[in-house]
Amino acid sequence: MRQLLVLGATGSVGRNTLDVAARHPQDFTVWGLTAHQDEAGLAELCRRHRPRHAAIGEPAAARRLQETLRSEGLRTEVHAGAEALAALAADPEAGLVMSAIVGAAGLLPTLAAVCAGKTVLIANKEPLVMAGELLMQAARDNGAVILPIDSEHNAIFQCLPAGYVCGQRPEGVQRLILTASGGPFREHSREQLAAVTPEQAVRHPNWSMGRKISVDSATLMNKGLELIEACALYALPESAVEVVVHPESLIHSLVEYRDGSLLAQLGQPDMRIPIAHALAWPERRSSGVGGLDLARIGQMRFLAPDLDRFPSLALARAAARAGGDAPNRLNAANEVAVEAFLAGRMAFLQIPRLIEAVLAQPSSLGSGGRDLGTVLAVDAEARRAAADWLEQYGDA
Ligand code: NAD
Ligand code: MG
Repeated sequence: MRQLLVLGATGSVGRNTLDVAARHPQDFTVWGLTAHQDEAGLAELCRRHRPRHAAIGEPAAARRLQETLRSEGLRTEVHAGAEALAALAADPEAGLVMSAIVGAAGLLPTLAAVCAGKTVLIANKEPLVMAGELLMQAARDNGAVILPIDSEHNAIFQCLPAGYVCGQRPEGVQRLILTASGGPFREHSREQLAAVTPEQAVRHPNWSMGRKISVDSATLMNKGLELIEACALYALPESAVEVVVHPESLIHSLVEYRDGSLLAQLGQPDMRIPIAHALAWPERRSSGVGGLDLARIGQMRFLAPDLDRFPSLALARAAARAGGDAPNRLNAANEVAVEAFLAGRMAFLQIPRLIEAVLAQPSSLGSGGRDLGTVLAVDAEARRAAADWLEQYGDA
């Protein structure tokens, strides 16, 4: 029986994780659940899964939730704040941690789980972009097992030889090929892109996901973050990671070997598949998702990404090539930009402009980035630069 902590339980990945875990009550016990603000959502998940621990952002919300659950006879202990997340992530009782918080907020709890030597299922890609080397080194030092949940990276992991460990350069591999759906605006002209609204941007054609990653998919920054994520997880240079647009989202990524063989993982675009893979690894358990009817699908398309209409992908590749703190700065600027776009404070096409402006500014912190203090300082500095840009050029 494995004790599971879900960081970001009320989100899209968090709920899918609980859906899969609940199909296998003989294998998994839900030990802990966390949420940022969604008190009602967390309460409902506590009723259904009866975890030993829960955590939420604000102390007042934690007190209310504790009262509610106690009055219903539940024994869940409710904690508050970011320190509680890291403490739960490091607790030796929970051997299996799903990292499914969105954004940089997931860095500290993910790192805490890795430093505690757990099996850590990483959906939360931003920490790998900010501090990939730090996380992978911590995994090696502490014997943590990292299993990728992002569908592309999970697909790649599945196409690597049995026994492969994340953080090592895989034997005989020439290239990784990340597939991208192209997002909801794949066929939009620049004029159309200029006018897109947050509501249109969060409506993804193939996947149902949280708002931030949906906007990232619409700008193709999601694929840029995934390129950097792939370099960190698989210890490969940016030049060995290719991106191809595949609008059907059925091939989730490919590994090209030295001998010309390409291995791909296919499946319905449903996150329960990579989640079930990682929860059960190295075994296999049902995910609740069926296979594919290939004859009915008929055909699959592959196209080169258009970097003129979607410059965010080029910015991410340039940051990956530059290395040092560039990926961290890119991530911070993107988080500020996406939040501003969703809040109606800037237009869709301003997102890459803001990121480019932040990346162009020299950092006052040098190009380090292997220690946590520097990572957090670089993140904070880039966010300030992004906020200044927004103040000056944000048009709403
Ligand atoms: P979401 O917005 O649906 O959920 C985010 C979760 O994080 C919620 O539980 C929320 O309460 C919590 N959270 C938000 N801000 C927080 C903070 N400051 N402190 C603590 N908790 C906080 O997001 P999602 O779509 O589930 O994505 C989660 C992560 O997984 C992201 O990094 C995303 O890029 C990655 N991912 C998601 C999908 C997907 O299908 N949704 C696929 C691949 C990767
Ligand atoms: Mg993905």
